[in-house]
Parts: sequence; C-alpha cells; structure tokens
Amino acid sequence: MQSFTGKILHIDLTHRKSWVQTVDDAYLKRWIGGVGLAARLAYENTAKGADPLGPDNALCFAASSFAGTLVPVGSKHGVAAKSPLTNRLGDCLASSYFSQSFRRAGYDGIVITGAADKWIYVFVDDDTVTFRDASHLLGKHTFETEEAIREELGDEAVRVSTIGLAGEKLVRFANITNDRGRQAGRTGLGAVMGAKKLKALAVRGSKPIDVADPQGLLEKAKALTKLSVGPKTEKYRVMGTPSNVLNMNRLGVLPTRNYQSGTFEHADKVSGEVMLEQYVEKAVSCAGCSIACEHITRVREGDYAGARTSVDYESLFALGPNCGVDNLAAIIKAIETCDNYGMDTMSSGVTISWAMECYQRGILTKEDFGGLEPDWGNHAVVIKLAEMIAKREGIGDLLAEGTKRAAEKVGQGSAHFAMNVKGLEAAGYDARGFQTFALGCAVGTRGPCHNRSLAYEPDAKGEVDRLKTEPARGQIAKDCEELAALFDCAMLCKFIRGCLKDAWSEVSELFTMTTGIPITAAEMRQAMERVWNMKKAFNIREGWTRAEDWLPDRWTQDPMPEGGSKGAVVSPEGLKEMIDAYYLARGWTPEGLIPKDKLAALDMADVAEDIGV
Ligand code: SF4
Repeated sequence: MQSFTGKILHIDLTHRKSWVQTVDDAYLKRWIGGVGLAARLAYENTAKGADPLGPDNALCFAASSFAGTLVPVGSKHGVAAKSPLTNRLGDCLASSYFSQSFRRAGYDGIVITGAADKWIYVFVDDDTVTFRDASHLLGKHTFETEEAIREELGDEAVRVSTIGLAGEKLVRFANITNDRGRQAGRTGLGAVMGAKKLKALAVRGSKPIDVADPQGLLEKAKALTKLSVGPKTEKYRVMGTPSNVLNMNRLGVLPTRNYQSGTFEHADKVSGEVMLEQYVEKAVSCAGCSIACEHITRVREGDYAGARTSVDYESLFALGPNCGVDNLAAIIKAIETCDNYGMDTMSSGVTISWAMECYQRGILTKEDFGGLEPDWGNHAVVIKLAEMIAKREGIGDLLAEGTKRAAEKVGQGSAHFAMNVKGLEAAGYDARGFQTFALGCAVGTRGPCHNRSLAYEPDAKGEVDRLKTEPARGQIAKDCEELAALFDCAMLCKFIRGCLKDAWSEVSELFTMTTGIPITAAEMRQAMERVWNMKKAFNIREGWTRAEDWLPDRWTQDPMPEGGSKGAVVSPEGLKEMIDAYYLARGWTPEGLIPKDKLAALDMADVAEDIGV
C-alpha cells in the first residue's frame, strides 16, 4: 500500500497508553476510508450495549487516501461512535488540515477508548502519544482551544480537534471542531469526547504521504481541479449553499416555524443573495480545495456588530426561517454562538424551534423559559437559548437533550412536532415536498440526513414526482445512499460530484492511484453496499427495530398549508410501501433485518455471527 500506512493508532484514556494495530490491503479495500472505515472501527471497538457517554464507547477517526495528496477537495476525515443523541451509530466527516496532519503522523485511523479521570488533551506527535492536562482549557470556545494548544505546543503546524463548552456539558448534539470552523457536526460526538474528559486531540505529522502512481495522479488531479473551478461548481463558489434559500422557498420545502410551513414570507431578507451583498467578507476553502464554498460573513453594525462566522444553508434555515427569524445579522450571531460553544447548528435550531412551538401552543410558558418570551422571530431569545443550551442553564438543560427526549419529558402532544427521526433532528428540506427524500429520512441509519441519503436530488431535479410516494423509490433511495457513501468513504467533497462523468469509475481510479490497491468500479459499488450494511448492522446490534424507520407525525399527518408544496403530506400507506420496497432492494427481510447469506456475500461473516438472521 502507498497512501495508506495500514496503521491504526489505539489510545486508551483510562490507562493512558497507546498501541498500533496493523491492517492489510484487503481490510482497507473493504472499508475504503472515511466514514466507512470509521464505522467499521466503531463496530469492532465498541461493546454491544455500551453507554454512549461511557468508557466503552469507542470514538474512531479515519483517514481518506486522498488527504494530503494532489486530489482536490479530498482532505477530509471520518469520525464515528455510538451517538448519545440516537443510541445508534453516529457517523460524521470533517475537512481540512487536521485530516492531513493525522495522515502525516502515519495513521489511517485513530481509536479512542476508555475515559480519563480528569480533563486532558492528547497530543499525537508522529510516533509519540502524550496525555496532557487540560484543566486550563475548560470553558474555552472551540477556536480559542485550538489556538491555546498551538501556542502551548509552540507550533502552528499542530492541528487540533476539540470540543467547546457544549461537549464538556454533554449536550447531546455537541460537535467536534477542527481548523477554526470545520465540524464533525451531527449526532453529538462532541459529547462522547466530553464524557471521556477529552478536551482535544492534537496532532502533528511530519511524514511524507506517498502515492502509488504520482504521474497518473498528477494528470488526473490537474484535470479535476480545472473542472472544479468551472460552471458545475459556480453556485458554490459564488454564494455557497445559502443559494438554496430562495429555491427551496419557491418549491415550498424551506422549513419555517418548526416545519409548520415550507414557505417563509421573509425569505428574500435571509437569502444567499442578501448575505453576499451585505455580509460576506471573503470566501475561504478547506485544505486542498479549489472550490472554496465557505463564505465568511461579518456583521459590521447594529446589535450584532462583530459577529463573524461562516454560514451554510443548513445552519441558516435552522436558526433562521425555522425559528421565524428574518434578520440575517441575528442568524449570523446565532450560528457564531453555536460554533463557539461547539454545538450542531441544525439540531440547535430545530430543538429551539420545537420549544418555540411549545410556547406558541401554551405547552411551555414564559415561566418555563425563565421570563423569556420566545415568540416566532424573536432572535434575541433564539441566541439566548443557544447559550443556555451550551451551559445547560434553565430550560437549556432540557433542550440540551434534543427534541426526542425533550418531547418525551414535556409530553402534551409535543412529540407530534418534535422533528427528528431516531433522535436526530431533521435537515433543511421539508419531506412532504420531497417524498423520495422522505424515504431517505425514514430509513437513514443516523437519522434524517440529506448528506447520507442524497435522495432529495431526484426530487429537486424533477426526475420524479416529488409530491407522491411510489415503491420504485426504494431502489432510487438505495442508489442515492450508496453514491453518497462513495463520497463519504473515499472522501471527496460532494460539491465536486457534478464535475464527474462517472463517479464510480473515476473515484475508484483515484483510490488505486493513491493507494496502489486495485479496485474496479463494480468492487467499489459493492464496498459501498458493504459500508451501508455495516452501519445498519451496528444499529441492529444495538436493538434497532423496523418501528424506528418512520417519520415525525407532522410529515405523515399534517398537509402542507401553503406554497409550492401546498396540500402535500407523506401518506403512511405510501411510506410503508416505499420502506418495503427499499428493504427488498437492499436484500433485507421484510422486518429490515440482514440475512446471514447477504452478509456472507458482502464478506462480513463476523457480522453475520452477531446479527444475521
Ligand atoms: S467545496 Fe466547500 S466544503 Fe467542499 S472542500 Fe471546498 S470549502 Fe470545503
């Protein structure tokens, strides 16, 4: 192997020791890297039934073979563990220099188990692992922690993955942040770090990253880089993903006031166009990226003057229209607040909007909010609630548990509009208006995730009738999941996908050029099917049943009241039919379990022993 080293670093926090496991080419070819490799490492190293906030939950980082090479938009890493939000597999990815550093340190994966007895951070310095006191870092924001560790170690080249106060306080949707604003954002893996009393993982790598076919890779990378700055990525380069705001609003799928509507009457005030005109300071990129979709915004005047952060569509919808907020400066401030404390902006916004709807309906009162009045659009209260969640202050303690647990506690019918699947809060597309995506949301292994599913694309592009269900969507959803997995395991940014004529063969070729491990497009497809079954197997081992593959009641019972998706609702019968068809397409049983022979065909005999039927 070339780009990969075959080394997995294990760090045991309880006993403060580390060791290196070696894996062979066949293993790496099976799991490819990124999310796939991280999920497999989590399966192997997490005890069945482990408490997500206990020492037996393994927090696993995995590299991509592209990080640190000439492959554009390939410097990413995967992170996986049992999620404290869903009690199922939480798998994330993040970009940039941290991904390169841990590869330069010589590892394809890092597995962290156990828990420290007092707050520490771990420094991986090539072959040396040290455990360092972190008591002076407690309470620091994510960005401050990164800087403080770099300063302490006296080297700007040190890269840091860290938690903020939210992770320390075990907020169930705390994230892990690296490189000043790149986040392993969803499913609460920051709380897993917090429970281990691990404030940060710092890495310095100085080893070269060799590739198997330097000349071939140079040519391929040059061609891909040229395409990546062409018309297919223009929307990302010019405005980033906030360009979606007006499009989604027109289609009637822009979540508004906790998904009570898909049309926000003030969308034109919070659009990507306004953001670009009034707030964008500069476009920046992850390491090794030629696209640079990330737009750093700054508020220059008014109540939120000085707020500065990058804004993407998902953060914007969640803390903006979904909370009824039409003030872009306030949305930037709310996103900055979440980023500083290290919290998933999507789960934060959707949980706050659930609380606001409880207030609208008189389920929660002004007294419950400690005197705050969370009327729709009250942006000062949205920002205050984000802070209270991070600190677990007042009602923030309840909201830090996420919508599912909060609704279970509050009751009074509030679960009807607790917009989560499996405990993970929904994404920025109302599934009533995107019904292939509705299936993707229901069956997603980590919950209702646009990034893992990609099933919104056939809906948004008009390739299917987006307002109705049909069994044929089962195969479509499966294909979308596996295409998403290709990008999440090989670890190319999905924003380059429009530049690839045949993603399967081109990514397979890049994988072989970097690693020297031969793989055909057909083998890569099978690897992605294997990865999806791996994630599902993790969940089955943890007690998953078919009942979990469903949608919030709002989407199956309340017709969309207005706008471009007016009248749409996901019919329960239609959803059931689509789920049946999806299980069939996957070769699973009608209960959604994986037959032993299916697992054997995917070279997962060990997993068949654990969960096969
Ligand atoms: S396109 Fe955006 S998210 Fe993707 S690698 Fe570049 S800057 Fe990062």
